Amino acid sequence: MSENYKSIRLKKNEERRIKQGHVWIFSNEVDIKETPLKSFEAGEVVTVEASNGKVIGVAYINPNTLICGRIISRSAKARFNQGFIKKRIQAAQTLRELSFDEPYYRLVFGDADGLPGLVIDRFGDVFVAQITTAGMEKMKDVITTTIENLYHPRTLIYSNETSSRKLEGLPMYEEVAIGELPEEVLIEENGTKFNIPVSGGQKTGWFYDHRLGRKRLQEMVKGKRVLDVFSYLGGWGLEAAVAGASEVVCVDSSSSALDGVDRNAALNGVADKVTTYEGNAFDVLKVLISEGNKYDVVIIDPPAFVKRKKDIRSGSEGYRRINELAIRLVETDGILVSASCSHHMSRDALLNQVQLAARHLDRTVQLFDQAHQAPDHPVHPAIPETEYIKTFFFRVSKAW
Ligand code: SAH
Repeated sequence: MSENYKSIRLKKNEERRIKQGHVWIFSNEVDIKETPLKSFEAGEVVTVEASNGKVIGVAYINPNTLICGRIISRSAKARFNQGFIKKRIQAAQTLRELSFDEPYYRLVFGDADGLPGLVIDRFGDVFVAQITTAGMEKMKDVITTTIENLYHPRTLIYSNETSSRKLEGLPMYEEVAIGELPEEVLIEENGTKFNIPVSGGQKTGWFYDHRLGRKRLQEMVKGKRVLDVFSYLGGWGLEAAVAGASEVVCVDSSSSALDGVDRNAALNGVADKVTTYEGNAFDVLKVLISEGNKYDVVIIDPPAFVKRKKDIRSGSEGYRRINELAIRLVETDGILVSASCSHHMSRDALLNQVQLAARHLDRTVQLFDQAHQAPDHPVHPAIPETEYIKTFFFRVSKAW
């Protein structure tokens, strides 16, 4: 089943970044006189040539997007087929098995697992996949068959609802490809049970990426009052409650997320310690401040405020404002856990915004620990975009 792919030619010197390991081809790097992008279909697989005609890999193409190609292999002989998908998924699985005994993890993390445009979260025998590119969308049936053959899952859902699909010319939809849609799926993380919605929830239903930070939090919350801001189902807050926090308040703008907090608190026998507060976090924190509330630990884990590079100014301002509100709610010598999942908000930039906020309030903050994205979200060193989670643990004191 060896078909020959058409070629795409890069302009002079444009192969350099790709040779160094990146996998994205930008549309302005293609020699469109030699190989007009318009002559390719969205999702078509091609051989990629340097300007001198030397083959540097195989990619899939979308002529309509700024990132017009993604390298899937450095070998000219590679074929984007079932064998390819199976091998890459198996390789991703063995990496997870280095870190996890139970099959509850992000099984595939896109570019970092050599499967650009594909994310698969595994919740035991329930699989939730997200496809974000036309090239990967063409492989959907192949992916379904591969998952079926490898895992015989109870359920495989495509939660293809991310807005970036629009750029690729793809429709947004949810599809149950194998089995039936369970109303909820039970997972356990850091000794805490969660019933999560795999349909109609957020992203794939659960944010596995913060599990190391949440575990670190558990070590410092015994007997403490905890405020979990942007809580979703209470990943941080409920794990703190299970670890012995005396009181937990979860804040989120989504009422269904907070219903989930209540139900999961009951599931873990900590309902008496947990309360929820629905609303825009910026407003809710102001109310909590005006009422004179203080917490031993405040966690800020917002959605990405800097989704694109051009949002850096407004996003940075958002991080500064929310951290400033949070610091005002931390007891003297209490703890601020401040996270960001914006790749474009660098570690140093976030640190700087927290420091600005602390100085503005005349407080001293000491960064005493940090957490990274969990090992089921590996980083591809040549693709900085695969590294995105920053989690800072600060002690907040009166100014020295
Ligand atoms: N901390 C969560 C993940 C956060 S995802 C966890 O550990 O799983 C971001 C959450 O912020 C979502 O639940 C979303 O509903 C909520 N959210 C988004 N904008 C908000 C706002 N302005 N105020 C309060 N919550 C918000």
